[in-house]
Amino acid sequence: MVDLIVVGAGTAGIPCAIVAAQAGATVAVLEKDSQIGGTLHVSAGHMSGAGSRRQHDVGIDDDTVDRHFDDVMRLSRGEADPVLVRVAVEEAPHTIDWLHDLGFTFDPETPTIYLGHDSYSRARTVWHAAPAGMELIPMGRALGILETLQPLWDEQVAAGRIVPYLATALATLIVENGAVVGVHAEGPLELRAPHTVIATGGYGSSPELFAELTPGRPRLVTNAWHTATGDGIVAARAVGAAIRDGEKHNYRLGMIEIEPGSGRGDMRKDFVNLSAAVRRPDEIWVNLRGERFADETTHDITSQERTLHDQPEQRFWLVFDEAAVEGPQAPLPLLWERDRLRVAADAGVFVWRDATLGGVAAKAGISAAGLERTVAGYNARIACGEADPLGRSGADRPIATGPFYALALPAGVLITFGGIHVDGQLRALDGAGQPIPGLYAAGEVVGGGATSGIAFCGGMLVTPALSFGRILGRALAAAASPARPPA
Ligand SMILES: Cc1cc2nc3c(=O)[nH]c(=O)nc-3n(C[C@H](O)[C@H](O)[C@H](O)COP(=O)(O)OP(=O)(O)OC[C@H]3O[C@@H](n4cnc5c(N)ncnc54)[C@H](O)[C@@H]3O)c2cc1C
Repeated sequence: MVDLIVVGAGTAGIPCAIVAAQAGATVAVLEKDSQIGGTLHVSAGHMSGAGSRRQHDVGIDDDTVDRHFDDVMRLSRGEADPVLVRVAVEEAPHTIDWLHDLGFTFDPETPTIYLGHDSYSRARTVWHAAPAGMELIPMGRALGILETLQPLWDEQVAAGRIVPYLATALATLIVENGAVVGVHAEGPLELRAPHTVIATGGYGSSPELFAELTPGRPRLVTNAWHTATGDGIVAARAVGAAIRDGEKHNYRLGMIEIEPGSGRGDMRKDFVNLSAAVRRPDEIWVNLRGERFADETTHDITSQERTLHDQPEQRFWLVFDEAAVEGPQAPLPLLWERDRLRVAADAGVFVWRDATLGGVAAKAGISAAGLERTVAGYNARIACGEADPLGRSGADRPIATGPFYALALPAGVLITFGGIHVDGQLRALDGAGQPIPGLYAAGEVVGGGATSGIAFCGGMLVTPALSFGRILGRALAAAASPARPPA
């Protein structure tokens, strides 16, 4: 019997186990991978918190937890869970300060207002400094969080307070007298504790669960870590936990499926930055019918993302001409040279080019008649200075200088929005809204919708995962030994 079982040694599970162990609890950690870290191996690791010491250090003294809360509720379109957002934003600056104290190396550009999502009102998003060669890409920085926490993890493992079971997957939760009292895992292994924290991440690598929980059932093209198969959701649901928010799902635009049919993307390299705040687009976005469907120039990124939900097969293409490729704002994947795009377009894998619009449409699988009609109308409006029906603004260039290009973009999955319904103490709730004794959850397993609504609110997955893990580690260590003060 241990004080606490943590299922999943990732973004939420690692701090949960460390904080509980530092407070003197004995913690068994089940991890199905052969290494710890989970999504920290691939995440951008952007974190957001108001009033962090890092903000003060660079002279930002007018940010508050209330302002952060209001921003998240605004950006999430009021769809995030206000109780959990409140808990998350209150803990966020302490979580960032904790990492700061542990020697976390902030990117010198941060805190900043990250422009890849709808913008916060204050510069409160931070991430780790770049590894060599990655300076231009604000992705893949979460490894810095793992590296910062690793010594604490090792220390508690050496002290015997964290007992890790690597390459050991949770199978089922043990319920006795209505309470979760332990787990059965592969091995076979049975562990018992008064408290079990599910921290197994999302379901972005499970086509089956994604299809079940996501309305519209699009084909899954994902950047989720390979272990994000929703195991904790399935196990918790089997003991009566309520699952919510799958319908809030949203997509990250710009991810490329470099190998068509693979179902995989990698935002650290195979990504076109579509944020008009960063790169003024010369291209148009068209759907399978060859029709435009969004204002490519708006800074309202969530609206752009949500518009994709209504497009056939939730796929779209960037269409542009050689003049755009030659221009200063070429729609190139990160770190790509122009010639690499041309070579790829001739190979015709995810990007195609042709002397005519009809030709490139045929190669890409878009309606040729639709595309020709769309581009003719688009060019004619520019020629006579007519307002764009979708609101596109600014000095546009016609798409007129062949060869013409079409670059395919899927509805990319970065995170999943559905998850275990928890209350403000992170207790798993049943269908009647009652806590299931002994069962808690933290991280993406509670659903991205809980802290981000139907949008991507900057840092509102990584920071809550770390924070909720810390909160549970503190609370459950104290509960295991009432005489022991919270760390
Ligand atoms: C490319 C990418 C970029 C992102 N960028 C950002 C960002 O900048 N900011 C932000 O806020 N969010 C971002 N996110 C989302 C964020 O990184 C994740 O939501 C968060 O890291 C998930 O943390 P977690 O602890 O819930 O899951 P994980 O970190 O994935 O940890 C879950 C752990 O549970 C283990 N596990 C799973 N099943 C079992 C089982 N059956 N038994 C035992 N162990 C199991 C896994 O192996 C894993 O180690 C990004 C996500 C991706 C994919």
